[in-house]
Amino acid sequence: MEEKERYDVIVVGAGMAGLSAALTLRLHNLKILWLGTPLLSEKIRKAEKIKNYPGISSVSGEDFGALLRVQAEEAGLSIVSETATGIYAMGGYFAVSTEKNTFESLSVILATGVESVKSVAGEEEFLGRGVSYCATCDGFLYKGKTIAVVCTSKEKEGEADYLASLAEKVYYIPLYKDPAFSAPNAEMVGGMPLKIEGKKRVEKLLFKDRELAVDGIFFLKSAAPPAVLVGGLKTEAEHVAVARDMSTNIKGLFAAGDCTGRPYQYAKAAGEGNVAAHSVVEYLRSLR
Ligand SMILES: Cc1cc2nc3c(=O)[nH]c(=O)nc-3n(C[C@H](O)[C@H](O)[C@H](O)COP(=O)(O)OP(=O)(O)OC[C@H]3O[C@@H](n4cnc5c(N)ncnc54)[C@H](O)[C@@H]3O)c2cc1C
Repeated sequence: MEEKERYDVIVVGAGMAGLSAALTLRLHNLKILWLGTPLLSEKIRKAEKIKNYPGISSVSGEDFGALLRVQAEEAGLSIVSETATGIYAMGGYFAVSTEKNTFESLSVILATGVESVKSVAGEEEFLGRGVSYCATCDGFLYKGKTIAVVCTSKEKEGEADYLASLAEKVYYIPLYKDPAFSAPNAEMVGGMPLKIEGKKRVEKLLFKDRELAVDGIFFLKSAAPPAVLVGGLKTEAEHVAVARDMSTNIKGLFAAGDCTGRPYQYAKAAGEGNVAAHSVVEYLRSLR
């Protein structure tokens, strides 16, 4: 059997933290796989004016994003446009699954940002029992069924299209402005879902003034909770618990940026990405 290519490090997330980490790792000539969206984070592009990042004065998020993309390209970095759906410590290496592939690496930097929309009560409890974060991984389980799709970003509408092509009925709950999603079998539902109820599996999604009977609920978010992505990862509230060198409780796994806690700022994310990259270099040296 052909041996799988093993990377030195997989960087998960292409925001400021992931970019900063990838730029430094590149200088150390490491074998890097970088997962995320090639346009970089929405949170860079959407900023109206950025005034508190050293070296730039009052640029728009669009312009800042363009500068960062040029920098990444000039460094010879490319982003694999896939979402990590699970990160597994295999004892000495990591397996990172995406909707299309499984990659292997000696270390991982988690730079997934934070989801600004609060979790719904029952989301973690029913994970794998009707709750899913991955349309491609689990959509087929809901062929001909009734599902709710709670979507926090326009960028995820393509995944909702895919789910609508499988399910019998879709309740679409957009938690962002100006949704453009539509499908013949989809009903748009306004308001914030409050609670998931069921016995063995998901049965209902509750709102303040109505409830939906469903077989499953997909949360299409820009960042799944870190503890869902990495089994056994220590978290404090919704953030990854890290030491000063950005290491986590899992050997070889580091985290940086908004996912490690406040303040949510570009400068903090860039700094932590840099520290995480240096820690990876040290960690890899310790393995030799
Ligand atoms: C409108 C707006 C304006 C802002 N203005 C400022 C400002 O002026 N100054 C300032 O300092 N800060 C500002 N911020 C905050 C700043 O955007 C964040 O602190 C910063 O983007 C954090 O960077 P990050 O890399 O940690 O996370 P993010 O920028 O959120 O990037 C994380 C990336 O990882 C991706 N990702 C998540 N999960 C996965 C996965 N499983 N697989 C692959 N990829 C994944 C996400 O899609 C995202 O692209 C602003 C934020 C917003 C929303």
